[in-house]
Amino acid sequence: MLVVLFVIVLWYGGLFFQSFFLHRYAAHQVFTMSKTMERITFVLTWIFQGSSYLSAYGYGIMHRMHHAYTDTDQDPHSPSHDPNLFAMMWRTKTIYQDINKERIAIDQRFTKNVPQWKSFDAFASSRFSRLLWIGLYILFFALFVTAWWQWLLLPIAFLMAPIHGVIINWFGHIYGYVNFKMKNTSKNLFRFDFLMMGEGYHNNHHKHANRANFGVKWYEIDITYLIIRLLDAVGLIHLKPIPVKN
Ligand SMILES: [Zn+2]
Ligand SMILES: [Zn+2]
Repeated sequence: MLVVLFVIVLWYGGLFFQSFFLHRYAAHQVFTMSKTMERITFVLTWIFQGSSYLSAYGYGIMHRMHHAYTDTDQDPHSPSHDPNLFAMMWRTKTIYQDINKERIAIDQRFTKNVPQWKSFDAFASSRFSRLLWIGLYILFFALFVTAWWQWLLLPIAFLMAPIHGVIINWFGHIYGYVNFKMKNTSKNLFRFDFLMMGEGYHNNHHKHANRANFGVKWYEIDITYLIIRLLDAVGLIHLKPIPVKN
């Protein structure tokens, strides 16, 4: 069962840094932190996302474009424009790499204050780093697998970050309920989001993109937000005041 536990740790660890660092900090900047804390978070994101590490720069810019162009043909990922889930994943990957390698011109509003640590990102996104993590995952599985079906979890470990992305970007724009009628297809996937740590309240988030707390109703408990509140209380990060408008 150690393998199952390992994948659960990767699931929630990788998801936390995607939600906390890449989404709420890099893209939306709902809190601030010192340069040292930011660097520590970069490294922790690399450790927990491992083979599927995403850079704050590439993610942050692409995600701001998603908010600006939701469901239009300029949206980097949308079930309204991509024929299927895999086609969307592939297009997202291409746009992400174009941004990261600075191959396309990007409007200033998308790049403003997005954290970037070029040398570390180059290392953490390198083939060497990805293969190193893949090797370590295989080794862990080889040592601790106790039933054949547990091997089925290995590809999930390899592709954790894109899997998290696709759950929100595909399913979160098709299935679920809405609290806010909007001109886009965003939905809240779960009434209590234990699986995606608050990211699943995607309709709420499209409505109030600058709010740290993605929950609106009493039962929409946002686990990442609770951790953000804790980190704010102990002084590791500083939550910005809740915006009056938006
Ligand atoms: Zn969305
Ligand atoms: Zn967002």
